Amino acid sequence: MLTECIVKSIGALMRRTGLIVLSALISPAIAIADPPFSSTADTVFDIITVDDPSHFTCLSYAGRTTRQMWDKRVDNEFDFNVYLFAVHFDDSPPFDIIVNPEFGTREAAEAEARRYTRPLGQLPLVFRHGIRQFGIHQGNPTYSAGPGKIFVYSDRTTTRIGQNHLEESLLHEAVHATLDRTYRQSDEWIAAQVSDGRFLTRYAASRPEREDLAETALFAYGLIRHPGRIPPVDSRDILTVVPARIAFIKDLLNQTPQVPPAPIPPENCH
Ligand SMILES: [Zn+2]
Repeated sequence: MLTECIVKSIGALMRRTGLIVLSALISPAIAIADPPFSSTADTVFDIITVDDPSHFTCLSYAGRTTRQMWDKRVDNEFDFNVYLFAVHFDDSPPFDIIVNPEFGTREAAEAEARRYTRPLGQLPLVFRHGIRQFGIHQGNPTYSAGPGKIFVYSDRTTTRIGQNHLEESLLHEAVHATLDRTYRQSDEWIAAQVSDGRFLTRYAASRPEREDLAETALFAYGLIRHPGRIPPVDSRDILTVVPARIAFIKDLLNQTPQVPPAPIPPENCH
C-alpha cells in the first residue's frame, strides 16, 4: 500500500511537472519500510501544552443567524439557526465560531465555544490565519476541515482534552483550513514527498494527497519549535524519514503571514 502511495505521488509529480522521475529515486528498502507512527491523533507527544502562551484575547456573542454546517453524523450539509460568536486574537483578525442549536441555550453554546478559544490562539499564525469559520456539533465523529472551515464534535473534544491532545488535533485541522489549498498538491510538496520516499504516519501513507501535509506539519512544528517535547530517538526517526518535508515546513514557519491587524474587540468581548 505504501509503495502504491509513493508511486501515486511520483505519478502526480510527473503529471504536474513533466519531470521524468526514475523509480530508482526511491530505494526499495526504504519504500517498503512502515511509517514510524500511526497518526497525529494517536501521537503520545504533547507538542503544545495547555500552559503554552495563547494569542486568544476574548470571545464575543453576536446572536443567532443562519449558517450552513457540514455534519459528519449525517454526511450532509444543512442550514442551522446557529449561535454565532467571534473569537478575537492579538495578532490577527477574529473569525467566527458557530455552534449547532442542539446545544439548547446561549450559555451552553458559549461554554462549549470557550473550550476551544485558548487552544486556537496557541496555534502558530502560519497555520491559523486561513480559518474563517469554526463549527461545533455534539457527538463523537472525528474532526474535519476544508479550506477556511473546521468542524468539531463535543464528545470527541472531551476525549482529546482528557488525552492532552486537543491542541494537536486543532493544529492538524488548521493546516487543512489554512495551507491545503496552496501547498498539499504543490510541485514543491510533491517533490519533497518523492525525495523522502516514506511517510511519517500510516494515516498520511493511506491518503498522501489529502493528509500528508496536515499529518507531517504537527511533527515538524514540534521538532522545530519545541524540540525538547519529542524524545531524541523519535526526533531522529522523524528527521530520517521525512527530511525534505521537515525543511519545507521549516520554511513555512519562518514566514510571517500577511494579515490585517487585530481590530479593537467589541464591548461585550470577554
Ligand atoms: Zn486530516
